Amino acid sequence: MVLQELGGSISRALQQMSNATIIDEKVLNECLNEITRALLQSDVQFKLVRDMQTNIKKIVNLDDLAAGHNKRRIIQQAIFNELCKMLDPGKPSFTPKKSKPCVVMFVGLQGSGKTTTCTKYAYYHQKKGFKPALVCADTFRAGAFDQLKQNATKAKIPFYGSYMESDPVKIAVEGVETFKKENCDLIIVDTSGRHKQEVALFEEMRQVSEATKPDLVIFVMDSSIGQAAFDQAQAFRQSVDVGAVIVTKMDGHAKGGGALSAVAATKSPVIFIGTGEHMDEFEAFDVKSFVSRLLG
Ligand code: GDP
Repeated sequence: MVLQELGGSISRALQQMSNATIIDEKVLNECLNEITRALLQSDVQFKLVRDMQTNIKKIVNLDDLAAGHNKRRIIQQAIFNELCKMLDPGKPSFTPKKSKPCVVMFVGLQGSGKTTTCTKYAYYHQKKGFKPALVCADTFRAGAFDQLKQNATKAKIPFYGSYMESDPVKIAVEGVETFKKENCDLIIVDTSGRHKQEVALFEEMRQVSEATKPDLVIFVMDSSIGQAAFDQAQAFRQSVDVGAVIVTKMDGHAKGGGALSAVAATKSPVIFIGTGEHMDEFEAFDVKSFVSRLLG
């Protein structure tokens, strides 16, 4: 179910409840079942949806609500709050400060949009007055350095990488050192993402992280990966200290559910979403406005 449809289904469920003359247990259950169905179809993890339903029922105790209470409003508010809670891990992510050098490492599977997102992130901060730089520590995929170089050149962002060196840790360390000397305040390290050899990928990621000591590790996730989101995000979190999530490809046939699962698995907030292939198709993510949009 694409994001707009999810929003549509949830608002329809709320509308149907509002149209009911009396709001009793049956009407509430029907509304919650509709919302549950919509969330599951959008690939939100089953456990999260079930917990949400239980929480809402605990908050909205129809028997205890005296006559005169606006039950509709209370139910709507509870649904809004629960959806926000699913997207808010309760701790903000590290945010870079201008003129104070920081290292941000990007991790994610191949094809998730990691390299594209590194440049978008750099470009976004460059427009805000930062001095970003890009380091290509992906020595696994042929063409990774060329791609980063091309993107960086287009955005006029300094970059570092090598066609010859095969050790990603060495390149990452050299790149970070080089840009620290050049007083860059946002040094972004792109790491390799693979489909196979997962053990090797995680070990490499851990080594790059240990060597560069990033202030923030961002996990990049393709919004279309569906129910696999939770396990994938958790696997990354177990290897490196993921502090934030960026969900890509939220344009087109994006499913929003993966984002909710990734937040739960990494206990980290979504900070941006990718909404297209171009450099500026990138939005800061705000939980409340996202949920408000979802509820229509
Ligand atoms: P990587 O292997 O994880 O580094 O992935 P890439 O950065 O090479 O991206 C893989 C493909 O996804 C490329 O064709 C990108 O243009 C595309 N892509 C990345 N982010 C987005 C996005 O937000 N929306 C869309 N539609 N495409 C994206």
